Amino acid sequence: MLDREEPRGTGKHFIAPQSRAATPRPGTANGLEELATSLRLGQAEPGVVYLVGAGPGDPGLVTVRAARLVATADVVLHDLLVAQELLDLVRPEAELYDVGKVGDGRHVAQEDTNALLVRLAKEGRSVVRLKGGDPFVFGRGGEELAELLEAGVRAEVVAGVTSGTGALAAAGIPATHRLLASAVAFVTGHGHNDKPETGRDWASLAHFPGTLVFYMAVKALPTVARELMAHGRSADEPAAIVERGTSDEQRVTRTTLSELPRVARQAGVRAPALVVVGDVVGLGTALDWRALRPLDGRRVVVTRAGAAAAQLAGRLRSLGAIVAELPAIRTIPTGVELPALAGVDLVCVASPAAADALAAGLAAKGQDLRALHGAAVAAVGPGTADALLRYGIRADLVPARAVTEGLLEAIDAAGLTPQRVVVVQARGGRPLLADTLTARGASVTVADLHQTEPEPLTAEQLAELQAADAVLFASGSAAKAVAHALREHGADPAAALAQVRSVAIGPTTAQALHELGITPAAVADPHTPDGLVAATIALLS
Ligand code: SAH
Repeated sequence: MLDREEPRGTGKHFIAPQSRAATPRPGTANGLEELATSLRLGQAEPGVVYLVGAGPGDPGLVTVRAARLVATADVVLHDLLVAQELLDLVRPEAELYDVGKVGDGRHVAQEDTNALLVRLAKEGRSVVRLKGGDPFVFGRGGEELAELLEAGVRAEVVAGVTSGTGALAAAGIPATHRLLASAVAFVTGHGHNDKPETGRDWASLAHFPGTLVFYMAVKALPTVARELMAHGRSADEPAAIVERGTSDEQRVTRTTLSELPRVARQAGVRAPALVVVGDVVGLGTALDWRALRPLDGRRVVVTRAGAAAAQLAGRLRSLGAIVAELPAIRTIPTGVELPALAGVDLVCVASPAAADALAAGLAAKGQDLRALHGAAVAAVGPGTADALLRYGIRADLVPARAVTEGLLEAIDAAGLTPQRVVVVQARGGRPLLADTLTARGASVTVADLHQTEPEPLTAEQLAELQAADAVLFASGSAAKAVAHALREHGADPAAALAQVRSVAIGPTTAQALHELGITPAAVADPHTPDGLVAATIALLS
């Protein structure tokens, strides 16, 4: 990680940019651009340092302003506890620094970070300093801002969702409550070592008329509990510890003030965690809305490449699932040219990837949608129809049953008797459509403009796959690709997935699984991403 050839900082420690081997996922910044434009959000300006709150961990709790600045800055400095999805927005050519840790595990000294911020800004770069939660809540943001302004550097502070509200919301613990708490205090668990006067006044805290939220209090728990009780807070007052709030690994442990230290020790509580003391905790698990999500905590693997996978993963996450995305297959062009479309009366598109291939095929010939003007367009299902629509092509036929057989039925139902047909599908796809239409007397050209290739699995992805409650297959080729990748790891696909429930998007995919010795636990109906989500809920909740 640490590139020792390009040191930066005060000289006491090396601070070097992280290597940027992983390229950011494409497409993420585009939607953001549109949103930023509609909200009139400017981009990061040269020579300015932005102290930006990154929220408590859930990427959904990052502000739009924060995302926009991260996506446009020349340099981004972050520490631990910052959502990876936010860092994925950093431009490939921008520099990324992890100042949470240097190579040997120590933190980068605050003065080194400050010196680096000043230097970069004075070099005329736009600099984002990302901080967990809110920069002004126990984040030393005030000190950093003072140093920047003193050094004559322009700066902006972007508020973030502090963990004290973000993690409590995710834990279903209201910070205030009309009947139970009319105030909330954010308190640091450890005092400032050099300045005891900024430490806590335990008597005032004990008498505080509301909820106490302690940050950085894991180590100091015994002190916190003892001092609060010694100064008059009831030993029976409800208390909770929220670890890694808002993340997939969030854990909420509930107890009473006097029991806090023992319970925390027993549960093996670790930072980052908040300690909450107050009657609002006494509402118990009744407000634990996360636990009520249909797929709460279920581990689901999505085997689908590209934007479609991201959308499916997003839906599953909103339902509470812990989702891992397996690329499984990548689509590559075959080099085949799109056949001439003049005189063609039906163009069939067999998958979302085929829709992409059709658009690319037109562009490669210097053509556009007008080349399709004489033909009806048939999509195999709603997902493919959506993909076509992104290119401005509205499919004339979208069968209710999203399989080739359904498409044939739809052609019949529409009373079409196509004479010249082009079928855009992956190389090696099912011949059924072309064969049937040919048998009916049509002249059919299969345009296999693209093909799929299995994407190897990393060891980590293999582990995720085997630990999953369910794995979702959205195509037969994805099933074959995963099987191929498993064999590459020396694993027999059927044995490797014996403990994991497989869900197929439709009968063709189910058949492909059967051929691999894998019995799907469910087959989606309708054979669409929505159907896949519904089948997963039925299976796991
Ligand atoms: N500026 C941050 C706080 C920085 S101090 C904010 O506004 O949230 C670091 C402390 O914040 C941690 O020790 C922990 O007490 C708390 N914290 C940060 N993220 C958290 C999370 N996701 N869940 C629970 N506590 C968190």
